Amino acid sequence: MSEQNTASEYTASEYTVIIGLEVHVQLATDSKLFCGCSTQFGAPPNTQTCEVCIGMPGTLPVMNRLAFELSLKTAVALNCEIPRFTKWDRKQYYYPDLPKGYQISQFDLPMSLNGWLAISDPKNRFEPKKIGIIRAHLEEDAGKSMHDEAAGKDDSRIDLNRCGTPLLEIVSEPDMRSAAEAKAYLTELKLLLNYLGVSDCNMQEGSLRVDANINLHVDTPQGKVATPIVEVKNMNSFRAVERALEYEATRQFDLWRETGQRQGDVPKQTRGWDEAAQLTRGQRSKEESSDYRYFPEPDLVPIITTDEQIARGKESLGELPAVLRKRLEKTYRITPYDADVLVNQGRELVDYYVETAETCGDGKLASNWVQQDVLRTLNQQEIGISQFPVAAAELAQLIEVVRAGKITTSRGREVLAEMTTSGKPLGETIEAMGIQQVDESALEDLCRKLLEANPKIVAQVKEGKVKAAGALVGQAKQKNPNINPARVREICLQLIERM
Ligand code: ZN
Ligand code: MN
Repeated sequence: MSEQNTASEYTASEYTVIIGLEVHVQLATDSKLFCGCSTQFGAPPNTQTCEVCIGMPGTLPVMNRLAFELSLKTAVALNCEIPRFTKWDRKQYYYPDLPKGYQISQFDLPMSLNGWLAISDPKNRFEPKKIGIIRAHLEEDAGKSMHDEAAGKDDSRIDLNRCGTPLLEIVSEPDMRSAAEAKAYLTELKLLLNYLGVSDCNMQEGSLRVDANINLHVDTPQGKVATPIVEVKNMNSFRAVERALEYEATRQFDLWRETGQRQGDVPKQTRGWDEAAQLTRGQRSKEESSDYRYFPEPDLVPIITTDEQIARGKESLGELPAVLRKRLEKTYRITPYDADVLVNQGRELVDYYVETAETCGDGKLASNWVQQDVLRTLNQQEIGISQFPVAAAELAQLIEVVRAGKITTSRGREVLAEMTTSGKPLGETIEAMGIQQVDESALEDLCRKLLEANPKIVAQVKEGKVKAAGALVGQAKQKNPNINPARVREICLQLIERM
């Protein structure tokens, strides 16, 4: 085939990666989408089910109003159009974890469409851009198959606790051009959901699941050629998404050079990411939507959304990440990078930072301490800011003590570390660590003794080698860790001058 020869001549720089993402988000409701069963994670298998969610004949679903409100709020925050009329459909397929034989979802009239989410990269790997949102619709989750998971059992079991859990499926346009952009989109989306309080987004517990559609546009002398679209599943972290997409782009390009296959030549393929092997493996061929035999759900009434409800949704948004970043930059005079780091930690950390900055009156210093010392502890101990033992007001006091020169920054860090471990307040900690301000006459005494003991250094300084005084400061620190090094240096130099 001539196409085969043509394809093999291209090199890696001659293609563009095209990525679209489908994200399923579990909404933060206590009960399921169409019944009163609990959505709490971690309960023993099949203890959170009822006749409605396991699909017994003769039962009727009733919509969870909160799930719809949370979806509406999210859709508005994603700049979506909200149709005034939306309805439910049955998506039919057979699988053991779907006892009804269909999933209640939304097909042709979703509750929102045509939105966007802005992404940017503080490391400047790509230009800021808007990623289009095709639609966001509500649907119920299926159960979970457990293969060989019960200890010592070589079998498959079904847990139906998840059946009927409310999900918002957010489908992006294929607007991302690299794995880094895909990761940035997911990070920003997760952050937005966190600020909206609509989901806990816990990927380990399945509250946020990502499927990626990816193919390549290859430049050829005959024009652009699109390779077959592949759907990648089974990615359990944003890092995994990034790796899977990087892997998949290279694999598709190699395959194209080998076969010359174009979009439409083969059915859409689904591949699963194998985290251990760091590669994707082929799964089943993807059903076309006609295979699902969608039809309107006859047991649920359509939903009419009013202008007033949409307005209320808009009012409930609060300050979203993009706006908050700008406000922190302006109000506390910190860099866009610093604002980004703080805001990306979530609203609770921003509240902590703002209180620290307001109380100590120095936004830049507060940002340094929160980013370096507080965040490091949170990461090391894998806790959230709500579990951090040092209150913002207390950290602000410590910053003031350091800024006043009463203790050095490095000594201040030790104090904070001690407060973090002991949970004791600032004053008590400083006392317990034996840190008191060393008074001037004591400092002068100390310096005199140092000069007497180090005639060589004194001579060097007198010859103009002022740097030699550094050794005196080092010795002073050893004798008393609470001295102010700058002041010791100053006093020593003054004393030497008078000698
Ligand atoms: Zn139920
Ligand atoms: Mn779905």
